[in-house]
Amino acid sequence: MRDPVDVQAVRRHFAFPTLGRIATNNAASTQPPRELVALYQSLAPGYENVHRGQSSASQEMTALFEESYDTIARFVGASGRDGIALYRNTTEAINAVMYSLLTEFREGDNVVTTTMEHNSNYVPWYAMCREILPRLGRRVDYRLARFDPHTGELDLDHLASLIDARTKLVCCTGASNFLGTRTPLRAVRALADASGYLQPTGERRSYLLVDAAQLVPGSFVDVRALDVDYLAFSFHKMLAPFGVGVLYGKPHLLAAALPFLYGGDMIAEGRVFPDRVDYNRLPWKYAAGTPNILGAVVSAQALRLLLDLALSPDRPAYFGTAEPIERSTVRAGMNRVSTWNRQLTGRALDGLGAIDGITIYGPRDPARRTSLVAFNLAGRDPVGVAEALNRAGIESRAGCHCATLAHHALGLTPPASCRLSFYLYNTPDEVDQAVAAVAAVAAGRPAGLDGPRERVAAR
Ligand code: PMP
Repeated sequence: MRDPVDVQAVRRHFAFPTLGRIATNNAASTQPPRELVALYQSLAPGYENVHRGQSSASQEMTALFEESYDTIARFVGASGRDGIALYRNTTEAINAVMYSLLTEFREGDNVVTTTMEHNSNYVPWYAMCREILPRLGRRVDYRLARFDPHTGELDLDHLASLIDARTKLVCCTGASNFLGTRTPLRAVRALADASGYLQPTGERRSYLLVDAAQLVPGSFVDVRALDVDYLAFSFHKMLAPFGVGVLYGKPHLLAAALPFLYGGDMIAEGRVFPDRVDYNRLPWKYAAGTPNILGAVVSAQALRLLLDLALSPDRPAYFGTAEPIERSTVRAGMNRVSTWNRQLTGRALDGLGAIDGITIYGPRDPARRTSLVAFNLAGRDPVGVAEALNRAGIESRAGCHCATLAHHALGLTPPASCRLSFYLYNTPDEVDQAVAAVAAVAAGRPAGLDGPRERVAAR
């Protein structure tokens, strides 16, 4: 069978293979292709602010910036740029929803989330319920749905039992960054639909917010097919440099809600008076202050390049253009990424599963998970394991991965595990090297040679 991705051609777009790095910490952040770094530089001659100047440079930068919203909207299947707000990252995007909805929560309402969440999709709701709303004299509860500790799957019956007619919002991860589990989003949507909660818009159902930080980078996602109300993700986990995250929101919700940040450019031109302020049209109502302009442009181009790398890495077709991207192209490209990631993950699960004394967390079936594997070795401190892997040139991450509740739910003391995570530029050979290094650490043998730091320093 032909590989879904021409991985050697993909790798030629990146610097890390030439440095001898085995980049297997992709659930934290992915590596940037050379083209994107060059794109930053190529934007310098026309460097200007957006929506704030009459120069040709400003007009051109504004066009590039606005086009990036269209690319992002098409990539996730939104109806248009009206549904896209840009923030610094997933965390800020989820906080934006929290602050927007803060005033809408009524006394006695609740918000339901899960113990599988990244802290970014738990702590804001904790803070809203325990710290912010009580100071405003309002009592709102948060409820936590559990997962099955053996399978790593969300307990849908428990989730169903927590959702009721006072549940304004259900929040869940699209894929866990620790267990790897993909959430059955249609089932969660159905439960949120059935709550009967009366929203200010007149809709009778709970809103659904999906933390898609681990879902969008490796899957075909269609926000309208999933019928999510809000969805957040970060570009630094899908090839782009750090600094830009997306909040998709249904346009009618973004139009009706209070903005998260107030100030410049989010107001309608000339419509600010001592006794009244009118807000800008969407999506600029959610773009207060000078945005990360170059970051937005480069991030949207990262989506184009990701599709190119998946579909035809030697002949990029979408990168560097503003061509509308068909849904079928996004589907084809992202299906290739997810198939490749699944093959790598299956290989890692098989290899790691054969190691004595290893505990692997989450579903065993690679089709039920995203491209990461977290594990512990009996009697070994996970941070020490990750350090030993680094000495063997294998990049991993140990800690709680900000999925602290899930580590506690599994009774892990300290709440930590070691995690390997893969992306479309990783090879089966790299997976095998990582597995061999974990096996060596588990057996108490030295895991390897010089770490990448020494190799990079020796250049
Ligand atoms: N949610 C999940 C599932 C994640 O994996 C991460 C990143 N580890 C985040 C949220 C937070 O992303 P960011 O740091 O970009 O805000």
